Amino acid sequence: MAADLVLGLDQGTTGSTVLVVDRDLKVQGRGYATFPQHFPEPGWVEHDPEELMASVLSALHQATEGLDPARFAAMGLTNQRETTFALDAETLQPLHRALVWQDRRTAEICADMKGDEDAIRAATGLPLDPYFSATKLRWLKDHLPGRSLAFATVDAFLLHRLSGTFATDPSNASRTQLFDLAAGGWSEDLIHRFGVDGIRLPEILPNTALRGRVRGVPGLPDSLPIHGAAGDQQAALFGQGCFDPGEAKLTYGTGSFVLMNTGSSVPHSRHGLLSTVAWEMAGARSYALEGGAFVAGSLIQWLRDELHLFPNAADSEALARSVPDSGGVTVVPALAGLGAPHWRPEARGAMFGITRGTTAAHLARAALEGIAHSQADILEAMAEDLSAPLASLRVDGGAAANDLLLQMQADLLGIPLHRPKLLETTALGAAMLAGLGAGHWTLDALRRAYPLERTFTPEGDASAIRAARAVWKARVAKA
Ligand code: ADP
Repeated sequence: MAADLVLGLDQGTTGSTVLVVDRDLKVQGRGYATFPQHFPEPGWVEHDPEELMASVLSALHQATEGLDPARFAAMGLTNQRETTFALDAETLQPLHRALVWQDRRTAEICADMKGDEDAIRAATGLPLDPYFSATKLRWLKDHLPGRSLAFATVDAFLLHRLSGTFATDPSNASRTQLFDLAAGGWSEDLIHRFGVDGIRLPEILPNTALRGRVRGVPGLPDSLPIHGAAGDQQAALFGQGCFDPGEAKLTYGTGSFVLMNTGSSVPHSRHGLLSTVAWEMAGARSYALEGGAFVAGSLIQWLRDELHLFPNAADSEALARSVPDSGGVTVVPALAGLGAPHWRPEARGAMFGITRGTTAAHLARAALEGIAHSQADILEAMAEDLSAPLASLRVDGGAAANDLLLQMQADLLGIPLHRPKLLETTALGAAMLAGLGAGHWTLDALRRAYPLERTFTPEGDASAIRAARAVWKARVAKA
């Protein structure tokens, strides 16, 4: 049989997902496995490389079971970004557990480097923060004295384990803070500023380039080409078919992630949004603006688990629909501070306008509105940064199953929202990049194959929406 299937492997923070898709992007195999999180001290988060790898192999096994390996045409990788591995420079075997993006142990290193912040932001498009890899690598270097080190992003580590080659891609590299955004490569100046000189770095290959061939992986044919790689949010942007400048996607998960393709020019935000590489292919690099809210779906979790308003997150919709409006209540979902574009980590969640007549249904409705307003704040900031209004938006993530939330979002933004049938856009994006690189698909074929499930068209009265935005903005300012 001709090779007609492409694999997408998504190595995430809590688990690994594998999708096997055919030429029409229909799923023919699926696997998922979690792995342990390690919290050795408050604020520290680590992944054991062998446990992480075991979850990858388990997900691959589940997804490929019963499929003829001769049908596999290519494989793509996507991964949690910023997570940092220290490997032996010679053997490329891990010398320490990986420091996960959530790990805050390097706050002091960042504080000591305050004087370098402007130069670092100008070169990388990112604020100086423990979130990114560079200070994590510095910590590992300081705690592994006398060792000859190599640095790996998650994709570089996986690629080495799966194929024996050692490379990453520009989207992952752009989250390390060692990558010059405009020049498109590792920066000697940044390496020196972070004090991580002399460490072996993976080669940066374009996102669709052949980066290795599978070697000795159970369930996969030897020499299967690994063609695609991208960081998780960039892979989701690609998986949502946002190939052209101005196209954007919004993921409603625990928190939210908005990415907008800005094309070939490096974006500069005046609102604290991050500038990042979207991908590099066919000799051209595309950039993206990125913004996120720390709390999105987790607000619904909180209403469920702490206030016991409903048994399942999905029930929030029926409860909110049981009232015509929120009865004047506003919920500001700043349970973990306010992210973009406000950047007030010390802000806390708030409820306004509660009366004796307020019901659980009003709270549920106000919570969904609060999630939608927070996203509208981010998208308005993006539109201002780019001096161009957004034409449409593609949505995914667990809470994108909520039709009422998406209708509110379309109304607030005044643009149509498109929801695909397949919500695992991250693994799908990795497969799409791989298939594109392997010549299995063209960009046009992928555009046509976008698995649209439903479009939410804006409704409602423009002046009422302007008034609602004004009330929201006044109340966020108070929070
Ligand atoms: P992550 O990938 O960040 O773990 P998911 O994409 O799986 O998150 O989304 C899960 C989140 O979405 C949870 O916080 C949950 O409360 C929320 N959620 C799931 N279904 C719904 C729904 N129908 N309406 C509102 N929120 C939902």
